[in-house]
Amino acid sequence: MPIKESKTPLNKAVFLDRDGTVIFEKPGVYLADPKKVRLYKNTLIGLKKLYKAGYKLFIVSNQSGIGRGYFDEDTMLSVMASMLKKLKGVKIEGISYCPHAPNEKCQCRKPLPKMGKQIIKGYKLNTKKCFMIGDKKSDMEFAKNIKVEGILVLTGNGRKQAKKYKAELKNFKHCTDLKSAANYILDKEVL
Ligand SMILES: [Mg+2]
Ligand SMILES: [Zn+2]
Repeated sequence: MPIKESKTPLNKAVFLDRDGTVIFEKPGVYLADPKKVRLYKNTLIGLKKLYKAGYKLFIVSNQSGIGRGYFDEDTMLSVMASMLKKLKGVKIEGISYCPHAPNEKCQCRKPLPKMGKQIIKGYKLNTKKCFMIGDKKSDMEFAKNIKVEGILVLTGNGRKQAKKYKAELKNFKHCTDLKSAANYILDKEVL
């Protein structure tokens, strides 16, 4: 009899953009002060729902402010730490970020799939049960590139992006914020 691989169920997960999705972003302003980190009103309630439903949560963030010389990596990490502190009752399984400026032509900047693919492999995720939530077209392209469903939130840059890239974004679910995105995901599960 052939030896069967262990039937570990493949994990489900939600990838989250950081700025404009989890934490408040004033479009065009690079957040570099941990004291200025603010969650959106419905961030915590949305993430708690997903976490309690068994989704592993990952932050995947472009932090080109580092590559552009606006702030250093330690400053960015202190912003991340401040965000994690505010996410009480929610476990963020992992954080990935791209520190490069667009002109550095790196392999990790969203929408390139590298950050997502590493997580999918490392955590044995089932992409059919995974989602990417973000406020930009590049987040939706990233979702497509890692073959998970993309959800555009209308916080941060979301509303403007939805207008500007209406045609490109029409096939992605639009949700007002993380709470409504979480509800969408959980409703989908019972269908
Ligand atoms: Mg964003
Ligand atoms: Zn990069």
